[in-house]
Amino acid sequence: MPAPYDCIVVGAGHNGLICACYLAKAGRKVLVLERRPVVGGAVCTEEIVPGYKFDVGSSAHIMFRSTPIMEELELAAHGLEYFEMDPWAFYPVPGKALGISFHRSLEKTCESIAQVSTRDAAAYRDFINRFRELNEGVFETFLKAPKPGSIFGTIFRRNLFNARSRRVWSSLDTTRQLMTNYGRLIDETFESEEVRAALYWLAAQSGPPPEEIATGDLVGWQAMIHKHGAWRAKGGSGALTQALARCLRAMGGEGGSGSRCKPARGRRTRRGRSRRRAMCRRLSGCSIRHWSRRNSNGASITCAWATASV
Ligand SMILES: Cc1cc2nc3c(=O)[nH]c(=O)nc-3n(C[C@H](O)[C@H](O)[C@H](O)COP(=O)(O)OP(=O)(O)OC[C@H]3O[C@@H](n4cnc5c(N)ncnc54)[C@H](O)[C@@H]3O)c2cc1C
Repeated sequence: MPAPYDCIVVGAGHNGLICACYLAKAGRKVLVLERRPVVGGAVCTEEIVPGYKFDVGSSAHIMFRSTPIMEELELAAHGLEYFEMDPWAFYPVPGKALGISFHRSLEKTCESIAQVSTRDAAAYRDFINRFRELNEGVFETFLKAPKPGSIFGTIFRRNLFNARSRRVWSSLDTTRQLMTNYGRLIDETFESEEVRAALYWLAAQSGPPPEEIATGDLVGWQAMIHKHGAWRAKGGSGALTQALARCLRAMGGEGGSGSRCKPARGRRTRRGRSRRRAMCRRLSGCSIRHWSRRNSNGASITCAWATASV
């Protein structure tokens, strides 16, 4: 039987699921379509070898625990539980019976680095304090509704009330460090091969190679791990998306797997405005009848009506 939806979310990765949950919480009727048989995208845990579950993509969660999402969506009530890892990273030094441990505590981390190089221990402390200031501003912006220029507003406000922030943000060297690649930033800041190797490895977790331009902050971002910690979900990273799916269902949202939405070409409407049709034209097991509508408040909605057998 046809069901009217206010919103259809294509893809049940954790970002899609979180959006869907907030839309459902705001009273929208939501359908989430996912092409894979399991929800979660790269945040899923699957039994790849019988009897053993693996995180298919992401494993450690850092930013998520610092947002209000878990509390606002009451995900603990849907079975989500986190454990902090402390230390959160360890680099065994080849040929020596020691290793560098990265703890939540900056001081403990510096003590560990000092086993290898006292100069690098001091350099690491300065580096983290500097990038902490930068990334606190960036993270504050992440927590707000995205608007053009909102990062500048946040930085401006921080600079207005905080002399240290003003010093860091107004330095030309800050711009240079952000715009350079992380390989260069690490090499110029640290002297020992061991500390460099550990930091290359940590920065590379974000994806781009060390020579990629404007990736300086990929190594600076770990200042936020010292601030917020690194966490693992009980049962694997997929526990997050499973809890989100349960939360969505509890709020009346619906979801289906095995449904691949194909992009459609833009077309010109009768009013003459070029309107890109919503992404899903033909769905396996789900046909969309109407595309763009306005709800009772006059707001436009993504996909209005779906006959879903998912
Ligand atoms: C190997 C690996 C390790 C990682 N480790 C970490 C980590 O430890 N910590 C961390 O924070 N991040 C990590 N990440 C990054 C993190 O997993 C991703 O940034 C995150 O999963 C992106 O989420 P998303 O919801 O935006 O997209 P995705 O997870 O990619 O989800 C998109 C979903 O949409 C579905 N989809 C796409 N197109 C269609 C379509 N046309 N129709 C229907 N469905 C569709 C896909 O099947 C998928 O399920 C890692 C990533 C990888 C690949």
